[in-house]
Amino acid sequence: MTLTKHVLILGAGFGGLASANLLRKSLPHEHQITVIDKSPYFMMGVINLWILSGTRTLDDSRVALNKLENKGVRFLNDEIISVDLSRNMVNTRSDQKLKYDYLILALGVELVPEQIKGFKDSGGFDLYDAEQIPKLREKILSLKSGRIAICIADIPYKCPPAPYEASLLINDILVTNGTRDSVDLDIYSPTPIALPVAGPKISQDVVNLLNKHNINFHPLHKLKRVNRELEFGNGNRMDYDVLICIPPHKIPVMVANSPGLLKEGENWINVDKFTLRTNYENVFAIGDVTEIKVNRYVAIPKAGIFAEAEAKVVSQQIIDEITNNNNKSQNPRFDGKGYCFMEIGNKNAGYIDADFYNETGPITKLESPSEESYHRKVDFERSRINEWLL
Ligand SMILES: Cc1cc2nc3c(=O)[nH]c(=O)nc-3n(C[C@H](O)[C@H](O)[C@H](O)COP(=O)(O)OP(=O)(O)OC[C@H]3O[C@@H](n4cnc5c(N)ncnc54)[C@H](O)[C@@H]3O)c2cc1C
Repeated sequence: MTLTKHVLILGAGFGGLASANLLRKSLPHEHQITVIDKSPYFMMGVINLWILSGTRTLDDSRVALNKLENKGVRFLNDEIISVDLSRNMVNTRSDQKLKYDYLILALGVELVPEQIKGFKDSGGFDLYDAEQIPKLREKILSLKSGRIAICIADIPYKCPPAPYEASLLINDILVTNGTRDSVDLDIYSPTPIALPVAGPKISQDVVNLLNKHNINFHPLHKLKRVNRELEFGNGNRMDYDVLICIPPHKIPVMVANSPGLLKEGENWINVDKFTLRTNYENVFAIGDVTEIKVNRYVAIPKAGIFAEAEAKVVSQQIIDEITNNNNKSQNPRFDGKGYCFMEIGNKNAGYIDADFYNETGPITKLESPSEESYHRKVDFERSRINEWLL
């Protein structure tokens, strides 16, 4: 009987990279850690906003995932086709069959812009597709007058403040370009308030901030179709010159192809809210691929900060089990806490602090924007890249 263990991590995004690093730091080297991702590089979502505002480029922001090998973590650049939970085995596109003792699913979401009727042929931009952002920036810079429409197609979507941040950064570009007075800027959301996950108070603060910069927020506008105009579910129609969408999100197709991972009627993987365990022994799921309901209306947001916090809890449980550390005082449990920096342009950012498991119900606070929070946001990205890959 072999005593060495194999921890297999599916997805080298926020959650996968945080897990791989924590595990490698604490597990003796006879235990193998493998990370699989179909992408050969990692880049944080937040960089999309910095490419938009012109402070970063795609080329200087992607980091090769094979750098994991320098840290003693095996990296496989391959597409995962399915998980066979009855045989503890993962199947890949290049026909590899990988056995695991522990499995961490950190697969994020699949973006499905094609679900918006007419969007593909509309010349619209997908804000969440980094490849499209350089062209979007050019388009905004060349626009002399007209209407820019930002549409949130559906919920849930990653990083709830990101569309609002994008609108404020576009406002900045237009002001610098001298075109702001002749360009309208509108945001359409299917939700009744700007940030349902942060509650009505912060949502109103965000709308006030948008209004201060002449950005119009249109709640309860679910995009139905793009057909020269934007057609909304409530019957309203709007014209546009530049269309930017936050596309619908869905569970990666391989999850649906893996019997047992998704229960009937579920759209995301359900896990224990404290331990991130699935119903299968030694199988965990973290980050955007999961849905952790806090109450009837609120779930843990799809954001890297939570994927990272969940990675810590899962890694510690695996380390404790493999090294027979029975020190229960550590008792790793996800506490539902997180934060984010909401960029508002002009190198300033607000700070949102969240405590989703508070006994009195979810608590969120927004600190006034400051240059310091902006710099903390920049550090947030840099420090993770340094720790995880360099
Ligand atoms: C514009 C924007 C701004 C954002 N800003 C912030 C922010 O400021 N703070 C914050 O906390 N979060 C932010 N986010 C959200 C954050 O990026 C995500 O929530 C986070 O990446 C989720 O981590 P994850 O590990 O669950 O999934 P991901 O980081 O998405 O990683 C999933 C990985 O799985 C891989 N994968 C999927 N399917 C397969 C398959 N079949 N085979 C092989 N590989 C596969 C993918 O290639 C991917 O690398 C932002 C997102 C965007 C788009």
